[in-house]
Amino acid sequence: MCSETGSATTAIVTNVQRYSLHDGGGIRTVAFLKGCPFHCPWCCNPENLSFEPQVSMNERLCIHCSPRPGGRLCERRPEECPTEAKTVLGRERTVDDLLAEAVRDRVFFEESGGGITLSGGEALAREAFATEFLSRCKAAGVQTALETTLAVPLRDAPALAAATDVFLVDFKIADRERSIAVTGIDPDVRDENLKEILALGARVVGRMPIIPGYTDSRENVAGNVARLVELGIRRADVLPFHQLGEAKYDAIGRDYALRGLHQLTADDVSGVVEILERGGITIIVSGE
Ligand code: SF4
Ligand code: SF4
Repeated sequence: MCSETGSATTAIVTNVQRYSLHDGGGIRTVAFLKGCPFHCPWCCNPENLSFEPQVSMNERLCIHCSPRPGGRLCERRPEECPTEAKTVLGRERTVDDLLAEAVRDRVFFEESGGGITLSGGEALAREAFATEFLSRCKAAGVQTALETTLAVPLRDAPALAAATDVFLVDFKIADRERSIAVTGIDPDVRDENLKEILALGARVVGRMPIIPGYTDSRENVAGNVARLVELGIRRADVLPFHQLGEAKYDAIGRDYALRGLHQLTADDVSGVVEILERGGITIIVSGE
């Protein structure tokens, strides 16, 4: 298990996405922290797996202005690339600096019931930074959400719960052994953390990516429903598998196990929806 390193006031951030309509309600600004200790084969943010900044290469933008023997990367530094084909993903940001950018759309947040969402990677691999950032957002009057596996040991659950208006927590592979083998995520660690933050009054929404061959069986969905019900969580977002991350694997030269797998539509997950609704879970299907 990864242990937190680095400062409470800095973290590597890959992207700040404005005007997002997912990930917490209303119009949102989503900040992505770099680094995740897990390895979900379907991860759609592979650029956020490594904890360090890394080079990304967009072949479509390359004008071959510098030699690339054997198709390898040229020797120019990313900042010298004239077309931004070669870039660096991730840069160190302070809480102050990220906060200043994140609250820029405050007027839209207020009108739409939106706010700021912290995502990743696994943002809680930088728990001290995440808590500090979210609590500063709240102090600035902005609603906060956190997308997380919640499957990392928490150092200060009360501070995190106080800083976070809504936790968006992954429910992927329900069987513990299989989850650990496939993704590295221990659902029992997540559930212990959930019990703690729920007792502190946290609002929690389950997030269920539906991935063919991994999370889409009736047995797996029913297993997740049982865990949700036992914990008293009554809301979940269903996320049908998509291929939006595929090109990112190419850009960072990383293998992708699910290449070419068909995307799912809302209709494809109707069986999942039925099981959830039968379990008394109120759901939203992403993309509907
Ligand atoms: S500098 Fe940029 S455009 Fe030129 S060869 Fe390198 S990656 Fe391609
Ligand atoms: S936990 Fe999230 S960021 Fe980490 S590997 Fe899984 S899908 Fe990717």
